[in-house]
Amino acid sequence: MSAPVQEKIPGRLGEMVAKMEALYADLDLAAVRDWKSRGQNRRAVGFLPVYVPREVIHAAGALPVGIMGGADRIEIVRGDSYFQSYICHLPRSVIELAVVGKLDALDGFVFPSICDVIRNLSGMFKLLLKDKFVHYLDLPQNFDRRLGGRFYIQDMQHLAQGIGRLTGVEVTDSALRASIKAFNHNRAAVRRLVAARSDRPWEVPTLEYFLLLRAGYLIPVEEHTALLDEYLELVGRSGRHMMDNVRVVVRGAFCEQPPLGLLRTLERAGCYVVDDDFVLGAHFIERDLDERGDPWEALAEGFMEYSVPSASKYDEHRTKGSELVRRVRDVRGEGVIFMAPSFCDPALLDQPMLAAALEKEHIAHTALKYSEDTGQFQVIREQAGTFADGLKLWSNA
Ligand code: SF4
Repeated sequence: MSAPVQEKIPGRLGEMVAKMEALYADLDLAAVRDWKSRGQNRRAVGFLPVYVPREVIHAAGALPVGIMGGADRIEIVRGDSYFQSYICHLPRSVIELAVVGKLDALDGFVFPSICDVIRNLSGMFKLLLKDKFVHYLDLPQNFDRRLGGRFYIQDMQHLAQGIGRLTGVEVTDSALRASIKAFNHNRAAVRRLVAARSDRPWEVPTLEYFLLLRAGYLIPVEEHTALLDEYLELVGRSGRHMMDNVRVVVRGAFCEQPPLGLLRTLERAGCYVVDDDFVLGAHFIERDLDERGDPWEALAEGFMEYSVPSASKYDEHRTKGSELVRRVRDVRGEGVIFMAPSFCDPALLDQPMLAAALEKEHIAHTALKYSEDTGQFQVIREQAGTFADGLKLWSNA
């Protein structure tokens, strides 16, 4: 259904982009089936946005698989009948994927607590897929390690036991430390990607950046880390040229993901996206976690101390606005585009507070809405193009 997303790129880089596009289009989870067929008793566990501790799934011997909706590649026939009209699109396409059997390769599902929609979706999965493991992961909203931290560790251990029953693998401390190590390598590679894209956005187009993060939701973490490393090496010597684009930061797209055409439209409208919250779970923890001590404590510390500000997480110290300003300055952003899915309460409720923080610092911003199946981009192109032109004029004034 989507138009081709990228002009043909020659050589190994072209092969890699083609592979990432194929993974993105893999709604039937052929890559997951393939992984399962390569060993005995292999299990795969799907997780919804935004963040789940994938290390726990990995340590239990299962493949963590990100479920990001159907984008513009699946027609919603039955999904609409499960929900009222005034909510976002993601749960409709996820239900559609489930009822038409496209999630059959998955043996279990983890629903993190983000919003009422995801909570309700987990209930529907329990009713619809009675033979599957379904876990609602109640991420802590209290950031005292003795309270929220303890609660979170118990919840993760409960999750580990559930997945362990599927795989027959007990999550030991040493297995969990090894998983933390594998994900630390991946986090470091993602940080290198984020930095390269922010420094030289002409080398790492938003579309490829997005496809790379999405690929990590379908393939084993070790393979994904290697993919990131090779990609970064290749684009470093690709000779791609810088365009006269403005540098923008995007916020609000942390759960339901924008269609590829929208990402391409932003760049064509003159915007380099130098920071964003796409596929946020892939870069939710900002630094490496401790690989030597108590691994459960390390995971709890990661969520509570080192996770990025997000509308999906309680902002105990009310610093989201100042954090956004700091980030805009760090990446030399010239403006911010609030880009939220229609009817996404968490993103839209945060927006006025974030906008006020930007205005205080005279940072320009604009807002647009999308749905994962948005197909018309002309209006968005005009709006983003006008914003980019305005930033160029103001910065030269
Ligand atoms: S897009 Fe927003 S409202 Fe919809 S499920 Fe995600 S966080 Fe909830």
